[in-house]
Amino acid sequence: MAKSPPLKKLPKSKNLVASVSTVSLPQREVHNGHRGAVLWFTGLSASGKSTIANELEAALFKRGCHVFVLDGDRVRHGLCSDLDFSEASRHENIRRVGEVAKLFAEAGTICIAAFISPYRADRDLVRTIMAGGKFLEVYVNAPLKVCEQRDPKGLYAKARKHEIRNFTGISAPYEAPLKPEIELRTDKLNVAEAVDKILSNLQKTCGVPWKKS
Ligand code: ADP
Repeated sequence: MAKSPPLKKLPKSKNLVASVSTVSLPQREVHNGHRGAVLWFTGLSASGKSTIANELEAALFKRGCHVFVLDGDRVRHGLCSDLDFSEASRHENIRRVGEVAKLFAEAGTICIAAFISPYRADRDLVRTIMAGGKFLEVYVNAPLKVCEQRDPKGLYAKARKHEIRNFTGISAPYEAPLKPEIELRTDKLNVAEAVDKILSNLQKTCGVPWKKS
């Protein structure tokens, strides 16, 4: 795989002062009825990240929670439209999305970030910028063979024909999480079971009201 040059770093302003909100995070969380957090979905293409993220968003919304899904399509059209799928761009994509997800959590929202995010170091970096316990790594895990059989967007077929370069699992690496807070084997669980597994975790960690979906 050809390595692309690292992205150019812009100089940081020397005149930055930390801003203080007039509304504190605890006040927001009491107002919302649950804590804010980032649910970081990682996994191969077609493992089920978007499908489960969208179902989970609907289930949380139904419970009156403040929730928002960030995914590749949403950010690659705007915030990250200057980035490609080279290694350097993938790092920068996750760094930016991590910062945005952090802002959502600071606003008291449950932010579901659904990105392949193939590099462990990138995911660990997002974990380190978040306050303790606010980052929950969700490993959406299906074997490559299963993902390739599903292939809902025909991307694996294109990658096998070399029509797509740097495709995770085929011609680019995927580093699986070592200790995810939640693991979903989507070749064994159906979508409703996967959603319930996350909801039961969120009930304990974020005070989300429990209601069987
Ligand atoms: P990703 O966002 O990880 O690329 P998608 O959610 O877009 O994956 O696609 C996953 C595909 O697999 C969808 O067509 C979905 O209907 C199908 N699928 C089959 N079983 C499951 C499951 N248990 N969990 C999630 N998706 C599943």
